[in-house]
Amino acid sequence: MMYTKATFSPHWLCYKLLFLFLIFLGYGCEKSEVNTLIPVLIAECECASDITEVHAQLLELKDRAIKRKMDPQKGINCAEKLLEKIREGSIDPEFEFLVLKLKHDFGINARTEQGLTHSKKAAEDMLVIGNKTGLDNVRANAYSRLHTNYAMRSRDGEVSKKEVEYLLKARMAARASGDTAEILNNLQHAQIMAMKLMDQSRLLELSKETLSLSSPTNPDHQKYKVFAHKHIGYHYYAFEDNYELAQEHLLEGHRLAKEYLAPVHVSILASDLIALYSSNNYPEKLRPFIQDVRIPGQLPFDEAYIAYANKEYQKAEALVSPLLTTKGLVGNKGLILRFHAAEMLRLIHKTQEDYKEALKFSDLKNNLQDSINQISLRSQTEVLLHEEQIKVQEEALIQKDISIRNLILALSIIGMQVFLLMGLFIRLRNRKRSLEEKGQIIQAQNEELNSANQNLESFARVASHDLRSPLRNIHFYSEILEKNLPKLSGDIQEYLQIIRSSVLNLDHLLDDILSYSRAAEKIDQFEPVDLNNLMARILENFETDIQSRGATLDMEILPVVLGHEARIYQVLQNLIGNSLKYQNPDKNPVIHLSGSQTEFSWIVNIQDNCIGIPADRIPDIFQEFTRIHIGADIPGSGLGLSIVLRHMQAHGGSVEVDSKPGEGSHFSLHFPK
Ligand code: ADP
Repeated sequence: MMYTKATFSPHWLCYKLLFLFLIFLGYGCEKSEVNTLIPVLIAECECASDITEVHAQLLELKDRAIKRKMDPQKGINCAEKLLEKIREGSIDPEFEFLVLKLKHDFGINARTEQGLTHSKKAAEDMLVIGNKTGLDNVRANAYSRLHTNYAMRSRDGEVSKKEVEYLLKARMAARASGDTAEILNNLQHAQIMAMKLMDQSRLLELSKETLSLSSPTNPDHQKYKVFAHKHIGYHYYAFEDNYELAQEHLLEGHRLAKEYLAPVHVSILASDLIALYSSNNYPEKLRPFIQDVRIPGQLPFDEAYIAYANKEYQKAEALVSPLLTTKGLVGNKGLILRFHAAEMLRLIHKTQEDYKEALKFSDLKNNLQDSINQISLRSQTEVLLHEEQIKVQEEALIQKDISIRNLILALSIIGMQVFLLMGLFIRLRNRKRSLEEKGQIIQAQNEELNSANQNLESFARVASHDLRSPLRNIHFYSEILEKNLPKLSGDIQEYLQIIRSSVLNLDHLLDDILSYSRAAEKIDQFEPVDLNNLMARILENFETDIQSRGATLDMEILPVVLGHEARIYQVLQNLIGNSLKYQNPDKNPVIHLSGSQTEFSWIVNIQDNCIGIPADRIPDIFQEFTRIHIGADIPGSGLGLSIVLRHMQAHGGSVEVDSKPGEGSHFSLHFPK
């Protein structure tokens, strides 16, 4: 977690001074004065942004509260108020974790059911933060506190399932975080549990692991080493009779305890050393440690060892003997105490060379050891079973996690597909819309075109009607003129010829314009048109022309197509007409007609050997009034192929051209099936 550095506002300084002043005042005061610090602390939290500073003060408050026996409930209330302020937003939320820690510690110190409930809630809230932030060390810390909470609820010497569960969870989270301090903390809790279960080999294993993990320089790690040395030393002393190694570890533990821990812990190590030296008859060696046993334990062993060291055997015996007869020393703890008492008495009698008594206590000690072992074995089996259960649960959780992940993956894939489909759908819809819009435009254009075509057609009709009549008159009167004036000069006769041919041309042009305007019309009804019959009629029409040009026309069997007979007639007439008209001067026209088909269309091929069309002009020939080859002897309006194209389009078909100048052209008509 990152914390911001303090910003020293005058407001903040003011509170700081007030706080110090109150501390000064409150140093010798009773718990009621201590309580007045709480509102000041809250106010300070609201002003300060240096979380470490406020945290130090919170810890100080806790320490002073413990020393002065301040009601821990007040501390809990203070923490609750701070949490309320955090939720309201008037205190930086980064304080939350520290305040929860404080609340937890006050709750534990209360040593009441209510206090434990508060501390449990605080630890659970810490776990929420851990899960939210995904920080494993925070989760490890929260689990460890939950473990402590349940451990405190367990009766002496008993281990609850929850206690084991949270210890294991804390272990996993601590290992996952890689935070050595959290791992060491967890190892220490595990050592306490191993002691409760009297699992000596596990205790040794955990203690050795603690020593291997802790750094020789980090002061935070040293306190964990104290207990590790204590456990290892005790093991060598009690179980392996290795006096040298036992002494080495206990001395190192004692040294570290003096340097880093409170006197109470020094006292524990000193007691162990006294026991070690007592049992090995080194009274002079244990003396320096007697002064360290400043806070005697609740039980008489410390005093008994001191008495034993001072050769006050009767006093030592009087101190421990009652333990063997005291009622109420039940459970594991009772067994252990009686075991130590039997050992102490064995030692005293052995030293006094009363071997009979020593043997009696030795037997008792062995019996007690058996009972302890049995209970230990049972508890260990339970723990192992419980560990197994937790592992199974965790595996199930992991499986569930995997299933959920798979489900999420599947859902995201489906989601992606839906997303893609939606994208596709939207694109299609937009495309449809744009097509509809385009369709509407095209429809509008078509309507426009139709109306233009209709206009053109009416114009063509009116024009041809209106023009044909004067044209006929011109033609008629020019003929009369020629007949009635026989002695006309050659020039005038020639002029009259020109007038007549121009009139004819104009007449053809009017025909073509009319045809062109009609060619765009929609075909209402398609009928089967036998092209063989149609061609026979066309050839009849062109008979004179064919003969005069010496043309050859060979025709294969042509298909029957669906269409409008009159319009197809015009198409073929125009094409055959051109193939005759644009005759190669060196050759007689040869026209070849054939039919073919594809899956979707009928094709009619018209191949000639005419003058051909230059490749770059081919696209132009379908344009209205475009004429590539112009000569006085070649009549035409430049509309013939435009009419062909329009008719073919009206059939839903097309027309293609391939041509080589000097060699001929190949026109193919495609009629849809
Ligand atoms: P036109 O009334 O001039 O014949 P068309 O539209 O029928 O008008 O033809 C356009 C032009 O295409 C013609 O002027 C001619 O130059 C060229 N053309 C058409 N058919 C042929 C053909 N079979 N061989 C050579 N040129 C052709």
